[in-house]
Amino acid sequence: MYPQSNNLYWLGINAPETELFETVELLGSIDDLPDIWGGVICLNFDKPDEQDHNLFLMLRQPKLWTWAVYVVNQNRYSECLCDGIFDEQSAYKNWLDINQKLSRIPDIAQVEPLIGWLGVQRARRIKPLKQLCSLGIYQYPIVDAFYPDLYSSHRFVLGETKREVLEPDKLIDRIRVCKQCNSGHLNYVEVCPSCKNIDINIQSSLHCFTCGHVGDQQLFLRRGKLECPNCLTQLRHIGVDYDRPLETHRCNACSHLFVEPDTLSHCLNCETQTETAELIVQTIYQLKLGQLGEYVYQHGKLLQAPELSIKGKVDAGYFENILIWLNKIALRHNERHLLLSMYLPRLEEYSNLYGDNKMFALLDQITLRLNGLFRDTDICCQYKQDILLVLMPKTAMASISVLQDKIEQLSRLIEEEQFEMHVSAVQIPDPAINEGTKIWLANVIGDIYAAR
Ligand SMILES: [Zn+2]
Ligand SMILES: [Zn+2]
Ligand SMILES: [Zn+2]
Repeated sequence: MYPQSNNLYWLGINAPETELFETVELLGSIDDLPDIWGGVICLNFDKPDEQDHNLFLMLRQPKLWTWAVYVVNQNRYSECLCDGIFDEQSAYKNWLDINQKLSRIPDIAQVEPLIGWLGVQRARRIKPLKQLCSLGIYQYPIVDAFYPDLYSSHRFVLGETKREVLEPDKLIDRIRVCKQCNSGHLNYVEVCPSCKNIDINIQSSLHCFTCGHVGDQQLFLRRGKLECPNCLTQLRHIGVDYDRPLETHRCNACSHLFVEPDTLSHCLNCETQTETAELIVQTIYQLKLGQLGEYVYQHGKLLQAPELSIKGKVDAGYFENILIWLNKIALRHNERHLLLSMYLPRLEEYSNLYGDNKMFALLDQITLRLNGLFRDTDICCQYKQDILLVLMPKTAMASISVLQDKIEQLSRLIEEEQFEMHVSAVQIPDPAINEGTKIWLANVIGDIYAAR
């Protein structure tokens, strides 16, 4: 079945003569790309920008994951998207190899492009690209090409790695990003540990042993000698007459003297101030096909939707345990907590209607919106594919209407007409939880489904 044609397609200047391929087909533009599986193409542009743009547009075509793609002039962007620099021999060999793999796929139209792309050529890697103009610093151009509607290719890759669709191959970098807006554009600034003001000075202080006075070294300098400005004793020998106390900084706002300033991070994007320890650490990997990805590639099983990666999220077992624990505490101390549920009834329908790409993008949007909504102490769990549970300690049932309002506002921000989210809540404690969390939760979820 493959290859379907023995042509080398060429986009750009200086198309070569060919020996191994039957013909070299010169394309006028991306629009002339033939609608075939398993082709081979090389791009040759003078201007890197033009090449990058054409590569991106090209890989958005639904069948392009099955093509062998080359360039004449490699750059950092093209490295993330193609199979290397064009050389007829190796291009021909690679193209045959890919086509051989394609002929073993039972239903090629069903293959998820990213998994197919990684599956048919095992040397391919999902490579991160450092782009200083982007908020998150690192992007994954191949993911952006296949899923152009995503807000963040990084978050997508993170979710797919967690599910073992992808697997880390090589550590590229570790960066810190703003916990509010995920921007990697941060400024670190030393501040006063007492009042957090940035107006601090290094001060060389001296300590007079005679009267105990501590002060700026400058004020001890008189007529070329060191003399205490307080008791006028001449200070000759360090360790005998005076010493240098440890405090070396002074805050001009609150006059606090200190040894080490604190370091705060200022987000250059949203201006949030964060303690450096609270910044989100992102580990940037180059990735390859993971275990589940391999399985999906081999067996052609359709992918489940990626998990909603809400901050403070835990897995189902952990969530059940926390629920028991919190329930017991609530019973003993007469406290009230809230179990909030968010149900996305049309998720499956949505993916059937619009395909996985659009669904991934939708989940990405929901994640982005929800992350701003919860407190650090709330515990989230994607208990079912279409149900998200949030345990909100010390939250009264009375606040549910406020929450519902907020979530509805958030839902309206999501740029999808088909999007629907049902919010409900259950009050905790409930003595029935102690008898069996799983059963209790199954009942709660049954009610959510039934209420639709
Ligand atoms: Zn003195
Ligand atoms: Zn201060
Ligand atoms: Zn920020």
